[in-house]
Amino acid sequence: MIVIGGGLAGLAAGVALAEAGWRVRLFEQRPFLGGRATSYVLPGGEHVDNCQHVTLGCCTNLDDFYRRVGASGKIKYFDKLFFLAPDGRCNEIAAGILPAPFHMAGSFGSFASLSSLDKLSIARAMLDILQHRGRTPDLHEHGGICMLEWLRRRGQTHGAIARFWRVVLVSALDEELDRTDARFGVDVFWKAFLANSTGYRMGVPVVPLANLYDGCKAEIERRGGEVTLRAPVRGLKFDNAELTGVRFDDGREESADAYVFAIPHTALAELLPESLKQTELSLSNLDKLKDSPITGVHFWFDRVVMKEPFLTLLDTVTQWVFNKSALYADSYADSNADENANSSNDSQGQYLQLVISASYDLLQKSRQEIIDLCLGELKTALPAVREAQLVKATVIKEAAATFSPEPGVDRWRPKQATSTHRLFLAGDWTATGWPATMEGAVRSGYLAAEAVLRAAGTPRKFLQPDLAPDGFIAMWLGKSYDAA
Ligand SMILES: Cc1cc2nc3c(=O)[nH]c(=O)nc-3n(C[C@H](O)[C@H](O)[C@H](O)COP(=O)(O)OP(=O)(O)OC[C@H]3O[C@@H](n4cnc5c(N)ncnc54)[C@H](O)[C@@H]3O)c2cc1C
Repeated sequence: MIVIGGGLAGLAAGVALAEAGWRVRLFEQRPFLGGRATSYVLPGGEHVDNCQHVTLGCCTNLDDFYRRVGASGKIKYFDKLFFLAPDGRCNEIAAGILPAPFHMAGSFGSFASLSSLDKLSIARAMLDILQHRGRTPDLHEHGGICMLEWLRRRGQTHGAIARFWRVVLVSALDEELDRTDARFGVDVFWKAFLANSTGYRMGVPVVPLANLYDGCKAEIERRGGEVTLRAPVRGLKFDNAELTGVRFDDGREESADAYVFAIPHTALAELLPESLKQTELSLSNLDKLKDSPITGVHFWFDRVVMKEPFLTLLDTVTQWVFNKSALYADSYADSNADENANSSNDSQGQYLQLVISASYDLLQKSRQEIIDLCLGELKTALPAVREAQLVKATVIKEAAATFSPEPGVDRWRPKQATSTHRLFLAGDWTATGWPATMEGAVRSGYLAAEAVLRAAGTPRKFLQPDLAPDGFIAMWLGKSYDAA
């Protein structure tokens, strides 16, 4: 079995197939695993994530994957989300004592940055999502409507859109509301905020991202497989329309009983021969998937400027601020793994990471312009920044961070099994029903593993079910939810 690509999709497929008894050989072109969800070391020795990555309680497959590879302990879950307004008011969102779907009612009611009218309009839209179990009838109109249109149809106020819907969805889906398929947006609220009282809990890695994957290599090797880094696949070998091997830089070829291509769709499109793209219909539309950018800004200050583990900023270009020093602190205390530490945990100073999703407007800006913009916003949000010295700053622009979840995008996403013998696909861009997320990538890897095993006549299930509804939702839906 050959897996090409060592991002989350390839790792999930590789680990699952190794567990099913296959000898897995995984080839990754870069010197480290994790793909887009990874970290690396700057020339100064600081470990930086490609960008801050977070998960949610409703991401059941990612959770399962972390458990399988022994990384669960490196994710810390938070029950409270903090939204900071420019006037300095910090709104907390957390589950209270009421059962789902009313668990957020208390903190939502006291969310000072929303007016009563804003809240009323949000409550009406939530009721609509509830009544239709996350599948309102207009979601599939014209092959998919955009989220902004869905919100307008439900009379959402300007404040509700700007300070609630946009804040949650642009970071969850990496796209603006007028370019997001409402199906994905509604699903976020159904799965993370309504159906289950723990779906919204935010999981943040307490180690640099690359450290999450140590167990993947070990797991594949323990079962007789191998993981080879710095091994880009450069070509495919076909015999009578049947995939018979992959080619590497030095002309070396490797063959296997099955191949899972877990590489970005753009990389796959370059590898596939034109003839195959024309005959294999599911692969003929890869160029229809558009990209959406994310920008990460890393600041190192000479002193502590923030006490919360993370903050969401309202009415600013900067969307999230993560207190990396505080997040990493627990893992430093637990281990002597100095490689994690470095200057990011300097006890005198503080390392913050800022995230801006769907950052189209920043793509043309220079590094210095972005630093000035974000630093200005931080000075308003965190008064201590005004006195602090910025020791170092880095900007990482990912122009193709995720595929854009635009209306109707699912029709371009191929299934993991193809009609070409031995050729299987994985990647957040394949048909998972999820947007481009770590959860989507792991789902695709599990689905690819299931497809390989089905084709081999040894079916097995890896895909995990969604979080079961709880509270009143469980009582209301009863058994009908399982059947849905
Ligand atoms: C800046 C940023 C922030 C994000 N934030 C979040 C977040 O907070 N939460 C979340 O859930 N998701 C987030 N995501 C999305 C998440 O990172 C991706 O959805 C997920 O990591 C995709 O995994 P993948 O395995 O499908 O693809 P990738 O991670 O792209 O993996 C593909 C792998 O294939 C390798 N490869 C490519 N070509 C070849 C070749 N020819 N031969 C061998 N190997 C090859 C690549 O090097 C790469 O390692 C973010 C993404 C970015 C970029």
